[in-house]
Amino acid sequence: MNQPMISLESLLTPIDVEALEKTASSGGCSSSSCGSSAKPEDMDEATWDRIKDHPCYSEEAHHYFARMHVAVAPACNIQCNYCNRKYDCANESRPGVVSEKLTPDQAMRKVVTVANEVPQLSVLGIAGPGDACYDWKKTKETFAQISAEIPDIKLCISTNGLALPDHVDELAQMNVDHVTITINMVDPEIGAKIYPWIYYNKRRYEGVEAAKILHERQMLGLEMLTARGILTKINSVMIPGVNDEHLLEVNKWVKERGAFLHNVMPLISDPAHGTHYGLTGQRGPTAMELKALQDKLDGGAKLMRHCRQCRADAVGLLGEDRGQEFTLDQLPDTVTYDPAKREAYREVVAKERGDHVAAKQAAVAEVKDVAVDAKLLVAVATQGGGRVNQHFGHAKEFQVYEAGPKGIVFVGHRKVEAQYCEGGWGEDATLDTVIAALDGVEVVLCSKIGDCPKDMLTAAGIRATDDYAFDYIETAIGALYAAEFGSEVSAAVA
Ligand code: SF4
Ligand code: SF4
Repeated sequence: MNQPMISLESLLTPIDVEALEKTASSGGCSSSSCGSSAKPEDMDEATWDRIKDHPCYSEEAHHYFARMHVAVAPACNIQCNYCNRKYDCANESRPGVVSEKLTPDQAMRKVVTVANEVPQLSVLGIAGPGDACYDWKKTKETFAQISAEIPDIKLCISTNGLALPDHVDELAQMNVDHVTITINMVDPEIGAKIYPWIYYNKRRYEGVEAAKILHERQMLGLEMLTARGILTKINSVMIPGVNDEHLLEVNKWVKERGAFLHNVMPLISDPAHGTHYGLTGQRGPTAMELKALQDKLDGGAKLMRHCRQCRADAVGLLGEDRGQEFTLDQLPDTVTYDPAKREAYREVVAKERGDHVAAKQAAVAEVKDVAVDAKLLVAVATQGGGRVNQHFGHAKEFQVYEAGPKGIVFVGHRKVEAQYCEGGWGEDATLDTVIAALDGVEVVLCSKIGDCPKDMLTAAGIRATDDYAFDYIETAIGALYAAEFGSEVSAAVA
């Protein structure tokens, strides 16, 4: 392997550098493993090559690579009961804050600026705040400009599917390799409870008739994408009492039509967002209800469990949002793309990923070797790189893994409303919300935790430890699981 000209540390932000320095001093890398492929065993090389740097299509890649969305497509042709158009698109974003809408020229300036400053950037998506296929002219112009300037950036769109069949051929010509369709139903009777109206062929349709047209267009769009070899992810919003059980049927339909991934997301229905569901008291699922549905879906279309329901103008690694650093007023008037940082980052990360995969394989084997039926739900504070490398009090979210007979499986993340430690002080009331977000979790791993929050977590039945600080996540969980249950086996054998 060629030695990189630039160190990874020099490419990252001050916080990242601090974490990496601690990581390096922890001796977490096994040099003998360098270069291992992270490719899943059941995936062919060509497909792996298309997703290996995509933080949404590869769960493993999301530790290393970033996406950005540009909000160039504000118009929409349907109404979803979970959306208020004054806010970001709920297909791919967290409602609540108005996006800064961009023209294609402004989007171009923003993407080049981000690409020069965020070496992890690998994906550019158009995910609202309306529909990328309905607002097609702006979507197309944006992609044309950006792919001419940054040819290796992956282009993605997110759509409700109604206008999708009209543009599949152009998507294929433009080399758009990843498309997301939000499909919440395959039964129009259920669809009528989610979509009050659609606008199609210059006419407004309502109720079951509207849902039937939408359903047929979504299925046609998916089949056309599959026929052209475009990787398609299906987003479904889980709406308790409306489509939760029905999503098993949706999963079956989309699998049969070649969907690459199925991403079931919890409904967000805060009354403050002014959506129909929010205002009528329709609740979203709890974290454990979502996990239970995902567990039932296991074995169908492959599930995405690491989605963060990003804003339509999100920038950065999944789980972080650097959008505020790149608002229009902060962008330079002219900017030229410089590929040096992104290229150097990729070279260094390739080695780090090889080490991570080898460590993960060893940890999974360690868990399987314990050979008991017990499961352990573990939450991890991490700021990327696949390591336990974040202070408990600084975590805005925790990544959750289940260790058990299947090995170590990523099951999702839990967002916390506020970090426990702000400005050096922890608030008990904030800790209560963190504890609520960790419902069902047995152990928390972090790089540092104070005695006070640790004791309060213990009182709530959650153990927290910084004993595995800066280890790879799976290495830490494997050791924890073996320490927890390995002795049971030894005791039983003895
Ligand atoms: S498709 Fe997106 S923008 Fe359109 S109504 Fe639904 S959530 Fe809102
Ligand atoms: S909303 Fe989900 S799929 Fe879309 S960019 Fe964010 S993490 Fe990826």
